[in-house]
Amino acid sequence: MFPTDPISNLSALIRCPSVTPAEGGALSALEGMLAPLGFTLDRVMAREAGTPDIENLYARLGTEGPHLMFAGHTDVVPVGDEAAWTHPPFSAVIAGGEMHGRGAVDMKGGIACFVAAVARHIEKHGRPKGSISFLITGDEEGPAINGTIKLLEWAAQKGERWDACLVGEPTNPDNLGDMIKIGRRGSLSGRITVHGVQGHAAYPHLADNPVRGILQLTQALMDPPFDTGTENFQPSNLEVTTIDVGNAAVNVIPAKASAAFNIRFNDRWTAESLKAEIVARLGRAGKDGALRPGRDPVRYDIVWNERPSHVFLTRNNALIDSLSGAVEAVTGRRPKLSTTGGTSDARFIKDYCPVVEFGLVGQTMHMVDERVAVADLDTLTEIYETFIARWFGHAAA
Ligand SMILES: [Zn+2]
Repeated sequence: MFPTDPISNLSALIRCPSVTPAEGGALSALEGMLAPLGFTLDRVMAREAGTPDIENLYARLGTEGPHLMFAGHTDVVPVGDEAAWTHPPFSAVIAGGEMHGRGAVDMKGGIACFVAAVARHIEKHGRPKGSISFLITGDEEGPAINGTIKLLEWAAQKGERWDACLVGEPTNPDNLGDMIKIGRRGSLSGRITVHGVQGHAAYPHLADNPVRGILQLTQALMDPPFDTGTENFQPSNLEVTTIDVGNAAVNVIPAKASAAFNIRFNDRWTAESLKAEIVARLGRAGKDGALRPGRDPVRYDIVWNERPSHVFLTRNNALIDSLSGAVEAVTGRRPKLSTTGGTSDARFIKDYCPVVEFGLVGQTMHMVDERVAVADLDTLTEIYETFIARWFGHAAA
């Protein structure tokens, strides 16, 4: 009855076709595992105009502190070309020592292992001296508006407080034990539009070609580099992701040109200081670029993406040491503490408590034939179980 086996937990979850925004039975399956362990279950529906309604789950075991949260998502990305899969994507077939299925590593596998770890802990030691909760969203792979943010707000409003959080997203590049994420870079996007004057390509003095302006401005965004990296982070990096003119006529100078960019930034910057730097660079490049000699400054506007992701770095030794110690005890390898990669829901959780991330090997996530080594499920469960014991030991001390 106790869900101590990560393999059967995962196969139950994979069989639920929970492609965002569909619940697909996945939260119900998880509730079925947590109820016998004594968890109090709350299904939280989140709504917002213009986005699909999303079901989320908050489950808590215990009422006292210290309080450890496990965060994750049961939604999965679409399967793509179903015919291209070696085994049907929602069938959880085990072949060649691997379990196949959408969500196997991202991240139903992490959830299956953490449930098994909690079940084993209770079986061996009884309930932990403190509380464990699951914060599970159905909206991580979608717009992420009706997921973790709203669930955290809902829980905090009813008085929930946490001392630490583990996010079970896949974090290991090659082998289980490679990498723990202890922070994430920030992400900021914007679009510049340069306004020119349309005209005949043979009479450029009567026109003002915005292509010259957009090249000057985008050049200034890419060079020089923003920094050379910091103690815990890679160098900040800006990529111009598109330049759009949409002009079909070779003999016409277009009226406007625009470009979009995305920057992944480290802890030398905030979204605000970075915006100021970019505005200053554009101001200078608009005035003295080499492509428009003798012209007035480039006329342009810039629109920022409304919701930048803020950079964060977790400095909480009880949490980081419990986790990296558990990884080393089980795998014999010391994991790298990293801040690389894209953003995750940890960026929302860090406003409530210290957060780290550790899960499966991420190589097949979002791909056709997403799959996980069955041996990794056992190992990750052992790591999580060791982590739970160590963290409650630390936190209670
Ligand atoms: Zn994920």
